[in-house]
Amino acid sequence: MSVLSVAGLWHSFAKSPVLKDISFEVEKGEIVGLIGPSGAGKSTLLRALCGLEKPDQGSVVLQGQDITTLAERDLRKARQNIGLVFQHFNLLQTKTVAQNVALPLKIAGWSSNDIKARVKELLELVGLGEHSEKYPAQLSGGQKQRVGIARALANAPSLLLCDEATSALDPQSTTAVLDLLSDINRKLGLTIILITHEMDVIRRFAQRVLVLDQGELVHNGAILDLLTRSNNPPAVQALLNET
Ligand code: ADP
Ligand code: MG
Repeated sequence: MSVLSVAGLWHSFAKSPVLKDISFEVEKGEIVGLIGPSGAGKSTLLRALCGLEKPDQGSVVLQGQDITTLAERDLRKARQNIGLVFQHFNLLQTKTVAQNVALPLKIAGWSSNDIKARVKELLELVGLGEHSEKYPAQLSGGQKQRVGIARALANAPSLLLCDEATSALDPQSTTAVLDLLSDINRKLGLTIILITHEMDVIRRFAQRVLVLDQGELVHNGAILDLLTRSNNPPAVQALLNET
């Protein structure tokens, strides 16, 4: 069964459509890349997948449940099943590493003892066991993103959505973060959708690639098929030629 099934999804801002009839499925344990020119609608699609944007039309079925039809309270619960990782980490600067990772667990109503044990486990998973009492400002970019990943995994989601998660990082930290995500994918069978504008990241990391161009899904398949195709839209071809 698919972890995620998107069908006939439309979304617009001020009557101008930015997602046009998007349909695709993601199977459990897959790593799917999402690429496309700037402004293509990648972030909007990711936000629609976790219910942060309400689409005009279409369905987003996460583990059998259409999240577009849920009331706010049920949606909040469903959202605990999705981890989000952002380009700029979105950490709370006045909280320690451990407190940042604990935040989603607090919101989910965990006891403080359970939180402590879970945070320890998560920080060990991302290789930050020694840094739990530090503040974000004391960490490197790569370490901050590890905190972001630990926080995203706190509620043991079935789907991890990463929006340009490595775009603010140097090449070395990018490799380290991608290795960590691959490792987590293998260990936990976690399904990952990763937005990036870096083709190299897609080549190294994704098993399948979705390509958005002006709100349309213009490719859903192997990266090689995309690279060897002769009828790519100009903006997509330019993206492929960049690297
Ligand atoms: P990408 O992530 O591929 O660069 P986005 O999903 O951020 O693209 O944006 C797609 C289009 O929607 C762009 O034209 C952008 O200007 C527009 N857009 C995104 N968010 C909003 C918003 N909150 N209000 C109005 N327009 C938006
Ligand atoms: Mg974006």
